[in-house]
Amino acid sequence: MKKTYYITIIGCQMNKSDSERIAGYLEERGYALSDSRDKADLVVVTTCGVRQSAEDRVYGLIPKIKKTNPKVKIILTGCLSSRKDVRGRLKKYVDIWMPITELESLADKLGIENGKSSSLSGYLAINPKYNSKFSAFVPIGNGCDNFCSYCVVPYARGREVYRDADEILKEVEGLVGKGYREIILIAQNVNSYQSKIPNFKFQIPNKFKIQNSKSKIINFPDLLKLANDIPGDFWIRFSTSHPKDMSDDLISAVAECENVCEHIHLPVQAGDNEILRRMNRKYTAEYYAGLIKKIRRKIEGVCVTTDVIVGFPGETEEQFNKTVDLFKQIKFYLAYVSQYSPRYGTASAKMEDDTPKEEKKRREDVLMDILRKTAFEENKKYIGKNAEVLIEGINRKGELFGKTRTFKNVKIRIGHNKLRVTNLVGKFINVQINKAEGFGLEGEVVK
Ligand code: SAM
Ligand code: SF4
Repeated sequence: MKKTYYITIIGCQMNKSDSERIAGYLEERGYALSDSRDKADLVVVTTCGVRQSAEDRVYGLIPKIKKTNPKVKIILTGCLSSRKDVRGRLKKYVDIWMPITELESLADKLGIENGKSSSLSGYLAINPKYNSKFSAFVPIGNGCDNFCSYCVVPYARGREVYRDADEILKEVEGLVGKGYREIILIAQNVNSYQSKIPNFKFQIPNKFKIQNSKSKIINFPDLLKLANDIPGDFWIRFSTSHPKDMSDDLISAVAECENVCEHIHLPVQAGDNEILRRMNRKYTAEYYAGLIKKIRRKIEGVCVTTDVIVGFPGETEEQFNKTVDLFKQIKFYLAYVSQYSPRYGTASAKMEDDTPKEEKKRREDVLMDILRKTAFEENKKYIGKNAEVLIEGINRKGELFGKTRTFKNVKIRIGHNKLRVTNLVGKFINVQINKAEGFGLEGEVVK
């Protein structure tokens, strides 16, 4: 009988994507997916170490897994796997510590045949087992060189490594060929992507000029254009972008490429320049606001979303109010608001975490209130209009749900014919929007 595995993910889209590669790797080596964590021979926990809340969940979960399934082998990977203090705390329960860049040598650690050889881009070249049949994360790189003072990623994932464009474009072409409708290009900082010029461009009609063809290097806007040119009916999304690397070329590429969705996720982190300086973000609030203006001018109908941290060490009420002002000025559609938590080994962990928990929560609530209003205002503009929606599933009420190109959640009420409805999952449909809510839209299928 085949040995079985189970994967539990606590984390972001990068962790989800990593888990698809882990699943592909294990299945290529004879493991089968178990339907229960309590019965699996191997449980992989892919962890996020970006916030304390995620870390705390891991401390609760790991002992529980071993208790309910004492014979299981636990592999811990992701952003916590190389931290010494975490290793000390969980050493009783974890059998294999595996920073994701060491995935290719997992077979040796498991004592099984390793088989396939490694490639230059390391674990990213491993064939993934995609979770969805219509939407896929395609990692274009791993790691980060930016060292924002609060962030553990450069320590946990190491320096930036990018995949060859050839390898990425082949993966995208393969997915589109299988009927995938949404390709999400991901990396910690997609817009610092660089690769040598791919051979791949000779196989597809490339109507765009590669920017740096003389230097034989392509950048992220070039990669977007090449992916855009792959024949097929599909959308391209990408995240995350760093404001300091958001070039005019990238904005133009999003505007020009018909398959690239009109959604820019651009983490601002704070609205006060002194806080931004201490975060080591390398831009000012004024620069950021100017960038958003440019993005909105050049990309018609674009939706702008962000990440922000409240309660960074030393953030005064006055400094927080600058973030409030920026939120009111920019009118983001959505923001992932995080309460600051000190991360082991980072520069800001040496600063005093001096904002009480309740005050961080209050600041989070203030920003969420603004967002709810600005998102609602933006959503109201959709009423009466038609929008193309990629259907992601059916909710408990029997309604279809999905997203527009501009990252808006849409619910579609359909009271009859379940079979036909099921067939629509993973398809693009045209929806007439007739209702706006705080963070979503409702509509009907256009006949
Ligand atoms: N590379 C992206 C960028 O430049 O914004 C995001 C990467 S990080 C994994 C995702 C988000 O987690 C960040 O944008 C930030 O808002 C949040 N975050 C990172 N470190 C944090 C910390 N120590 N406390 C609270 N939130 C944090
Ligand atoms: Fe972390 Fe900053 Fe790198 Fe984003 S850009 S992963 S926040 S260090």
